[in-house]
Amino acid sequence: MPSSIADLDQVVAALSPDDRARFDRLFAFNRSTARVLPPKTMEDWIVKQFRYLSEEPEGTPAWRDEVLRKVGHQRIVHVLNRVTCQATLFNAVRALKPVEAKESAALEEEIEKTRGGPFCRPLELTPENPFGRIGGAKTCANVAAYDGWHGLVIFKEHSPLAFRDDDYTPDQVADMFATARQWAAKVHAEDPQARFFFLMWNCLWKAAASIIHGHAQMVVGRTFHYGKVERLCRDAARYRAEHGTDYFNDFVAAHEALGLTDRRDGEAVTTLAHLAPIKERELVIVADDGLDSAGLPEAVWRALKGYARLDVKAFNMAVYMPPLGETDPAWADFPVQVYLVDRGDPATKSTDIGGMELYTSSVVSSDPFAVAEVVRNL
Ligand SMILES: [Zn+2]
Repeated sequence: MPSSIADLDQVVAALSPDDRARFDRLFAFNRSTARVLPPKTMEDWIVKQFRYLSEEPEGTPAWRDEVLRKVGHQRIVHVLNRVTCQATLFNAVRALKPVEAKESAALEEEIEKTRGGPFCRPLELTPENPFGRIGGAKTCANVAAYDGWHGLVIFKEHSPLAFRDDDYTPDQVADMFATARQWAAKVHAEDPQARFFFLMWNCLWKAAASIIHGHAQMVVGRTFHYGKVERLCRDAARYRAEHGTDYFNDFVAAHEALGLTDRRDGEAVTTLAHLAPIKERELVIVADDGLDSAGLPEAVWRALKGYARLDVKAFNMAVYMPPLGETDPAWADFPVQVYLVDRGDPATKSTDIGGMELYTSSVVSSDPFAVAEVVRNL
């Protein structure tokens, strides 16, 4: 039986002494049980709502008892990354919820309605950066910039869900990265102090895209990196000073020891299902050799295909990387990392990020062990 986040204590207890020591340098966790005591009048509703919690034949008394027992004793696992203090609360009851592919006709229709918009006609309807555009009309400037240097990669396909199609290939991912790198090189050539490049893809409204046509955002900061990237670099430096080892190597190795990674022959990248995810189904792809790492586009493509299989539609992708230009000693050990996170069903009104995620620990219902399984089997 595959591991589950609810049984993290058993998985950790089975680690070798070295793996255990590394795990303990990086992570702490605790378990608790939320006792939920429904009145009799609520039981039918609960059994219907959480019917998937029992493997007993549906409709039998044993099935009903098991559902009520599991809802009555909800197992919570709280994981803390001791280095970055990113923390996540997993609820095993929620984690067991199966993925059901929902009809997305209404969403497809909404996407179609926006066809012919600005990113379908970029030369007429989008501004450009001072040095022009990359690849004819593959990039534009953001009409309402976040920072001094801000551009967009405009995808060839109108639908941001093109990644779910069978004919979507790793070449499309590679092209997005290549276009972004050319754009950043232009920025850096014009303004050598602009060194801190960040690339991100917000897919659909739920992920904060205001224009539906598929596109990625590119910003280049000056003087210091973007806040959370800067934070991670400093945390990793402190880890090295305290423990004498590399944080990122340990981070990948800790996930590997738990069975949360995927690494293919001939590729210089590791994909991991994050043990302390910021939100649902977070994947982190860590590259050994920067943006030129063998297999990087393929790994991102597989992550996207994994998301398609999990019926993820709205997501954020973020690329962390060391500064442009000459190697900066402060960033020498900082690998390129690609983060992907599911932002929830576009058909639901409520937002996935609340006060907990903004100010405390993230509340997550997806099981990293199940997510790792999907990515490994692609
Ligand atoms: Zn379009």
